[in-house]
Amino acid sequence: MGHIGIRDLEVFAHHGVYPEETENGQMFYVSADLYLDTWDAEHTDDLNTSVNYGTVCEYIKDVMTRRNYRLIERAAGEICEDLMINFPKLNKVRVELYKPEAPIPIPFGTVYVEACREWQDVYIGIGSNMGDKEANIRSAIRLLSETQGIQVEKVSTLIQTEPYGYREQDEFLNGCLKLRTWLPPEVLLKRMQEIELLLHRERKIHWGPRTIDLDMLLYGEEIIHTKDLCVPHPDMINRRFVLEPLDEIAGWSWHPAEKKTIHQLREALNKKEAIES
Ligand code: ADP
Ligand code: MG
Repeated sequence: MGHIGIRDLEVFAHHGVYPEETENGQMFYVSADLYLDTWDAEHTDDLNTSVNYGTVCEYIKDVMTRRNYRLIERAAGEICEDLMINFPKLNKVRVELYKPEAPIPIPFGTVYVEACREWQDVYIGIGSNMGDKEANIRSAIRLLSETQGIQVEKVSTLIQTEPYGYREQDEFLNGCLKLRTWLPPEVLLKRMQEIELLLHRERKIHWGPRTIDLDMLLYGEEIIHTKDLCVPHPDMINRRFVLEPLDEIAGWSWHPAEKKTIHQLREALNKKEAIES
């Protein structure tokens, strides 16, 4: 991966908590690190294969001046997200925002904040066994793709499956999605749960069969074990309705705990099921 750096871009703006700051304004300095593949630029000498740092500076100035933020954290986050959206070649952006005239009554050099956004490949399992199952799944996909920081890149074939666990339920429709997201795992989980709730609520169902179930299967190659989140999803390696659609869109993806590809895990499950039957 290559890297383009911008140091100390000067922007006069009006961010701050105090009224004098919004009224009078002050000078801010922005440094940005842009991470992208620069191989083609290095070998073709063609600007179209890279990112124009002049245009990047104009976007930064625009974010800094189109609104007044109370916090420089917020301004730095907005710069990162604006650049990630408008320059699709960027894999990662890191921004430092300096405020050397900050209202601090003690002599100081400068204050600054840092914000960072990085695209991650994430796979989600999606299922429904109530109402118009396909419509529920399509709604959830639409809500995910309308979320700032989430792009839905692939949708597997949806497959009919017998209920897992409670057998008296209706058949499930299951599939998998590939997302590109800069949301951290716990923020993504929160958004998935909001979407589940939104779609449940419409049908006033609080228990029993699901209008929609969203499970985080893989988050890059991270291994996460917290109270609310286990990734890779602990049960995915035993579930045909996960591995089958996931193999279709992510056969080569790596399961960092099992140390096998998704395709290998599906083959292993096939063998296990053949022995058991
Ligand atoms: P299931 O999907 O096993 O049928 P639920 O969707 O009701 O059950 O369970 C969701 C709970 O599991 C949530 O409270 C959530 O915090 C937790 N959880 C842990 N790991 C994950 C994950 N990888 N994806 C989704 N939810 C998870
Ligand atoms: Mg779930």
